[in-house]
Amino acid sequence: MSAPAISLADRVTQIKPSPTLAVNAKAKALKASGADILNFSVGEPDFDTPLHVREAGKAAIDEGFTRYTAVPGIPELREAIARRFAEDHGWQYDPDQIQVSCGGKHGLYNMAQALLNPGDEVLVPTPYWVSYPAIIQLAGGTPVLVPLSDKRDFDLDPSTLSQYVTSKTKAIILNSPSNPTGSLFSEEALQAVAKLALERGWVIISDDIYDTITYIDGALPHILKIEPKLKGQTLILNGVSKSFAMTGWRIGYTAGPQHIIAAMNKIQSQSTSNPSSVAQKAALCAVTGPQDFPAEMCKAFLERRDYFVKELRSIPGVTCVNPMGAFYVFPNMSSYYGRSFDGKPIENSLDLADYLLDEALLAGVPGIAFGADDFIRFSFATSLEIIQEGLHRLKDALNNLS
Ligand SMILES: *Cc1c(COP(=O)(O)O)cnc(C)c1O
Repeated sequence: MSAPAISLADRVTQIKPSPTLAVNAKAKALKASGADILNFSVGEPDFDTPLHVREAGKAAIDEGFTRYTAVPGIPELREAIARRFAEDHGWQYDPDQIQVSCGGKHGLYNMAQALLNPGDEVLVPTPYWVSYPAIIQLAGGTPVLVPLSDKRDFDLDPSTLSQYVTSKTKAIILNSPSNPTGSLFSEEALQAVAKLALERGWVIISDDIYDTITYIDGALPHILKIEPKLKGQTLILNGVSKSFAMTGWRIGYTAGPQHIIAAMNKIQSQSTSNPSSVAQKAALCAVTGPQDFPAEMCKAFLERRDYFVKELRSIPGVTCVNPMGAFYVFPNMSSYYGRSFDGKPIENSLDLADYLLDEALLAGVPGIAFGADDFIRFSFATSLEIIQEGLHRLKDALNNLS
């Protein structure tokens, strides 16, 4: 007799299975079987962590810096992060207004757990980063998706935003530059958000993880620069994952009002405790050392972006917003929906991503994963040669649809 199936918590079953998982699993299986897969689905820089940062990590191990640390992170790292905020942006934070977490994603998780009650709504501009809705739901909150249009370069339209505001709105997430679109929010859009947030006392969650990876002259528009009065209700999320190619080290950080950071520390103290001691030392080296590494990466990314966008735009029926930051292109490929290959219809982004993987050995992420089914996300955190080959394959594959 077999044992009865063990039931799972409702919170797990309410989280939708990620549509990217199927494509990813398939890409991995194909690769394992020896297929020459070109992978554009990766969400991390293709650069190594800078040498001096790796050395700092090794030194931390050799010096025996391998025990528990303070839950919110070692004081010298929080002080160094506070100095970065002051020097780079003119924002003053005390070290106890900063939490170091196990990656930026974990900072968001702590925030949601610390802030949200059942029924609280969080405005999520869409296309969104895959984890936002799930992190909100796991905390009992309700993600409210606010559509952005590629026709407006994925900027936030204040009149659209106002349609989604209710008395239950508690917070809004801003991610500029954005994953997956690479777009920035304009000063006008941020001004409109700032006005509503001040009037209504919203929490602003500003996910600035890509703020050092931009392709603009001049400063990135930022809500705290547009409206400094919001500082007491804003949480700034950042980290070293993208800016220093340190995704695997798992160090992110949040700056914000002391009582919210203290609440986040409570959550962190009963779940992960401190982030890795060794990774904190490496991050300390990244934050205090030379700051030219992101700009070096940007040079390579810019050349690839220009090529990728130019080539995508040369494909009939494909439109593509020029990304101003991050390392993704997010072309609208929906004019190919309704076509078919070998009698098999392509009806949405999942079908198209699946087809590209099967027939072109090209892995991209279907837009539905980001709440935007008209699009496919391709990462250009990969070499120009691979991008060139990928675009040949993409063009051929689209050509073969009838
Ligand atoms: C990568 C990323 C993060 C943080 O990632 P971690 O690896 O957890 O530090 C946060 N937000 C967005 C939009 C990202 O793409």
